[in-house]
Amino acid sequence: MKFLIALLISVAPLLAADEVKPAVFKVSEAGKNKIALTEVFRAVQDQKMRLAVGAPTTFRVIQVLGAKRFLVRALDANNSRSLLLVTKEDHNVADDEAIRNIYARITEKTHAYESVSGAKTTVRIAEEITPPPPMSQEAFVNLLKAGETWTLKEFKTEKCKECFGDGKLSALQKFTECGACSGKGEWKVDLLVTW
Ligand SMILES: [Zn+2]
Repeated sequence: MKFLIALLISVAPLLAADEVKPAVFKVSEAGKNKIALTEVFRAVQDQKMRLAVGAPTTFRVIQVLGAKRFLVRALDANNSRSLLLVTKEDHNVADDEAIRNIYARITEKTHAYESVSGAKTTVRIAEEITPPPPMSQEAFVNLLKAGETWTLKEFKTEKCKECFGDGKLSALQKFTECGACSGKGEWKVDLLVTW
């Protein structure tokens, strides 16, 4: 029961944040606000790229097999498996060094090798891919005009509407920490980008 209460308390701020409506950014009305517009455009550009080819990955080299062939492990993945990475360019790296920010796709192909202990091991082959060119500003505007919208997750910081920014509840509630913003006085809201 105690656990359940703790769980409910920890979930409460999330629920409150979920009720927060996204802020709206109208590109057609953003002409005077060049900096914000550039920031929003870049974020949408990034998001589109991630949807198309995923995020770039940094790999740790386990073994160098050639200038463009490496036994690797993704550095940031939780339970990363070994892969044979085939790159487009030569990489002058040694074991345990990193090959950074590579767009790669894991293929159906496999590579078999004998490990030091003599055991036969098979790994998937990941091939570096060339990401498509980033969306141009012109395409961004045309897509918006055609009715496309984008939601940028937790893009904007707003003053908390529960505690009005001081992170504490009212005197009636003995100035306890505001649960909606966990006492931070602000929360992150999504930004809806429209024409
Ligand atoms: Zn608050």
